Amino acid sequence: MEQIVQQIEAYKQEIAAFQPKTAEELEQYRIKFLGTKGLVKALFGEMKSVPNEQKKEFGQVLNSFKLLAEGRYEEFEHLKNGAADASAHQDLTLPGEPHRLGTRHPISIVRNKAIRIFERLGFTIAEGPEIENDWHNFTALNLDENHPARDMQDTFYVHNNPDWLLRTHTSSVQVRVMEEGKLPIRIICPGRVYRNETISARAHCFFHQIEGLYIAENVSFADLKQTLYYFVQEFFGENFKVRFRPSFFPFTEPSAEMDISCLICGGEGCNVCKHTGWVEILGCGMVHPQVLENCGIDSKKYTGFAFGMGIERLTMLKYQIKDLRLFSENDLRFLKQFQGAV
Ligand SMILES: [Zn+2]
Repeated sequence: MEQIVQQIEAYKQEIAAFQPKTAEELEQYRIKFLGTKGLVKALFGEMKSVPNEQKKEFGQVLNSFKLLAEGRYEEFEHLKNGAADASAHQDLTLPGEPHRLGTRHPISIVRNKAIRIFERLGFTIAEGPEIENDWHNFTALNLDENHPARDMQDTFYVHNNPDWLLRTHTSSVQVRVMEEGKLPIRIICPGRVYRNETISARAHCFFHQIEGLYIAENVSFADLKQTLYYFVQEFFGENFKVRFRPSFFPFTEPSAEMDISCLICGGEGCNVCKHTGWVEILGCGMVHPQVLENCGIDSKKYTGFAFGMGIERLTMLKYQIKDLRLFSENDLRFLKQFQGAV
């Protein structure tokens, strides 16, 4: 009996140190001490092997042990009830957590809108790699190695030899399509392009373009103008004037830039149009015969026009956004403003 009493003392210490944190720990305690196969019950079973004269004393020890074990259990019973209470008080009629719908990025909205307009004119989408080689990005487009116009399109080089670089325009896709030699060609090339520019409100080291190319027999500058008139009217509406200004690009001849009268001041002059009343929209021109020849197309038989515009620029004009950096900052306060736009 001496031994059992010592054992009970050890159990008492265990019970005193018991500090459950979860209903599960409490349940384990209950099974160990108070369950049908628990220690309290097992120790009461020992009573029959205790000599009669010691039964009274042993009975007192056992009773105090039982009370202690039960008392400790009751002390932590709130753990069990607490868990049950929480589920009992759940109000299933409350509205659920709403699914937050994202918004399309303004660049995507404008790109898709432009694509849809050109698709109505029979243009299809062509895509190409963003990491290009020198030939497709520069040389095939009459931008030889030492051509000064390369300075305006400085970019990021992956390798110097052979020349691998991040494309500076999507014209590289046009070269790839021309090289395939399937004529006529009527494509638009939307995509991301890169330039080694200092990041500011008006310039970034990457931006997006849509370029177009139409090559067939007897394509003229009149076709170019009509296509672009149609585009700007569909895109901006009809309450503005359009003008073409002579310009220079190595890959088109003749070349032009297209302006529209300022949408913000209506041509009166403001900060956006730098007080000229006009805003530049895109560059365009007839594809240079040498570029056609570079790509294996007979320039005596075929002619074509090309144009290119920055999607950021279109977006800034359409939504009157003044800082290009907003497009890539992922600021929800900015992006949420396009919730209703499609
Ligand atoms: Zn203006």
